[in-house]
This record gives sequence, C-alpha cells and structure tokens, in this order.
Amino acid sequence: MRKRLKLNRPSLRQRARPPRHRTASGARFSAANLSGILKLQHCTACQHIQYPPAELCGVCLADALVYRDTDNGGTLLAQSDLHHSLWEYFKRRLGDGPWSVGTVQLDGGPTMIVHLGPGEMAPGDRVQVFSHSDASQSAVLIAVPDSVDLRTREARRAIVLAMGLNAPAIRPTGA
Ligand SMILES: [Zn+2]
Repeated sequence: MRKRLKLNRPSLRQRARPPRHRTASGARFSAANLSGILKLQHCTACQHIQYPPAELCGVCLADALVYRDTDNGGTLLAQSDLHHSLWEYFKRRLGDGPWSVGTVQLDGGPTMIVHLGPGEMAPGDRVQVFSHSDASQSAVLIAVPDSVDLRTREARRAIVLAMGLNAPAIRPTGA
C-alpha cells in the first residue's frame, strides 16, 4: 500500500527527477545533444536554424533538417525567477532560493527558453547557451555569461554541478 502511494505521490518518493516526457522530435534533440556544446536542426534547403525541434522547416516546409553544431552566442532578452513549481524535482530545489530562467535570442537564430546558470546576467547581456543531458537523460538548455569558458566537457559539467541539475533531488529526511 505504502509502495503504491509512493508511486502516485511524487512528494513521497526518495528521489525526484526532472520532467522526462518529450515528443519524438524532442527525443531526437536529446539524442543529438549527447555530445557537443549545442546542436540544433539546420534546414539544408534554406539554411534556417529550427528551434524548437520539428519534423519540417518552419520557413520552407522542407523535411531536410539535420542536426549540426551551432554558434551558441546570443543575447539575454528576459530573465525571471521562479519561486514555485508544481514539479517535485524543482520544488525541492526551490528551498534553496528561486530558480532563474530566461529567454535568449541566439545570434542569427531562434529564441529559446533556458535555465540561467551561475553568474550575474541582465537583459541585454551577451550570453552563451549549451545543452546538458539532465537526470532524466533529456537535453535542457543552460545560459551563462559570455565570459565563461565552455569549451571543455569538464567546464560545462562544473556549471551543471553548481546548479544541482545533474542528480535526482533527494527528499529531505524527517521533513
Ligand atoms: Zn527551410
């Protein structure tokens, strides 16, 4: 009985994970981003950079979209702090303070919603975006200030560790 309750009530689970449900296109995006800094769909017919991932190019409707390494520089358009979440994984993190998210206009590319990493960032600032495979093995996007060195996997991993995004959220005992 208790076990069944745990399955139905995320707050009773020892470990909580970030949302893992993705569309088929989203799953392919996650797979493409297992390596590299940022891979987005490029239309081989009209050169449009497509995001969010889709089956067809949003400009010319060609089905000729391929994942390629993409210039990850951009401008932070807006920033917001989340103080509440309905998702257990983020509920447990919000105890340490608000969770920052933002929108980034990628240079010559799409606008994307991202987690904001460590460091001061204000709208209008130059930022860079990288993809990370989270604790549910889904790709999420993280923006950091332009000055941060993202070239190595270790550097990117250190940012993710500082954010606490790499691991399942453990339920505080006795709470
Ligand atoms: Zn196209």
